[in-house]
Amino acid sequence: MHHFDYRGGELYCEDVSVRELATAHGTPLYIYSTATLRRHFRVLSEAFAEQNCLIAYAMKANSNMAVLTTLANMGSGADVVSGGEMRRAITAGIPANKIVFSGVGKTAIEIRDALQAGIHQFNVESEPELKRISALAEEMGKTAPIAFRINPHVEAGGHANISTGGAEHKFGIAWHEAKAMYERAQKMPGISVVGVDVHIGSQITDLTPMRLAFTKVVGLVRELRDMGVPISRIDLGGGLGIPYKSGETPASPAEYAEMVRDVVGDLDVQLILEPGRMIAGNAGIFVSRVEYIKERDEREFAILDAAMNDLMRPALYQAVHELLPVTRAEDRQSRTYDIVGPVCESTDRFAKGYSVQELRETDLVAFMSAGAYGAVMSNQYNTRPLCAEVLVNGDQAELVRRAPTFDEMIANERVPEWLKS
Ligand SMILES: *Cc1c(COP(=O)(O)O)cnc(C)c1O
Repeated sequence: MHHFDYRGGELYCEDVSVRELATAHGTPLYIYSTATLRRHFRVLSEAFAEQNCLIAYAMKANSNMAVLTTLANMGSGADVVSGGEMRRAITAGIPANKIVFSGVGKTAIEIRDALQAGIHQFNVESEPELKRISALAEEMGKTAPIAFRINPHVEAGGHANISTGGAEHKFGIAWHEAKAMYERAQKMPGISVVGVDVHIGSQITDLTPMRLAFTKVVGLVRELRDMGVPISRIDLGGGLGIPYKSGETPASPAEYAEMVRDVVGDLDVQLILEPGRMIAGNAGIFVSRVEYIKERDEREFAILDAAMNDLMRPALYQAVHELLPVTRAEDRQSRTYDIVGPVCESTDRFAKGYSVQELRETDLVAFMSAGAYGAVMSNQYNTRPLCAEVLVNGDQAELVRRAPTFDEMIANERVPEWLKS
């Protein structure tokens, strides 16, 4: 469900015309819908209303300060994967005791900052990391609440590059080493063992692999408790998939919650959820303008002013975003294009052989479902500025990130003295 719809042939975000936003702010442009963000957060909270549950939004999906503040105001926590994300979360008003810190490579500085802030939990991914956290916590006279991220050896996820729960992946502690690791952790001075964490992948549309992984986690929690390890939290990670095309029906938050209730049963724990894509994915679109239609070798290329540096998912995961014309024209037939950008890479292609209403120069088009892993992954390759982002709320719209000027883009670069004479 989202709030991007046609009114009289024009695409709207809530009560604001996408064309007007594109005219006011230029293209390429990211547009986010407040009502959609709120709806997704609310639907998930309601599905878990009867459980002791912390929703820690995985902000790597979309960490724009306006998006974060929208969710913070609804009581969201945050799953962060860097010191920078932690600072964003705190700046947006998310209390430290609702922040969990994930990731395989936490630096000493990041760990100290998180201990200083007093975060809810570190999701620990290796024994060397555990030792480092313990030593730093002891030095600071603190104890670090930790969960181990367990690798359940369950493969899942919408694409090989977003599957994280298999033995070959860098993530998590090996299933068979978990119990010994918990025993060692319990004896460490700077550590307070609180939970078990799992995250097996992203864009998971079928609940079966999740059920398998969560069942293993619940079994582990029971065994750990029998061993005297007081586990009081289970972090189930994120990964719930979204519809990228009309007609796709991934498992709903309600079905997900029911499965979790079924698996967790009467185990008395705090549940932590780390949804990213499910909150932000369908709350954003990415708008671009057609620069050229190029015909060659019996193909037609629609060359846009957007490129792989702005929206990386197609190049990175072979993802296909539904492409809609911002203005519907009744008199135009559907045609088939390769949808490409101007960047000098063959992977700078959004779709191959894609059928859409006939496109002409200067037409506006919208990539749907671009709210997650869109703007956050963008970069300035080819000296293309980071795109502007707009947040809509009813009939209001505001620029929530402006594109940098050329001078800002080169401001941190220096030409050495020896080149100046
Ligand atoms: C990326 C990530 C998430 C969010 O995944 P989604 O598929 O966007 O829900 C949650 N937890 C961890 C540890 C992650 O790395």
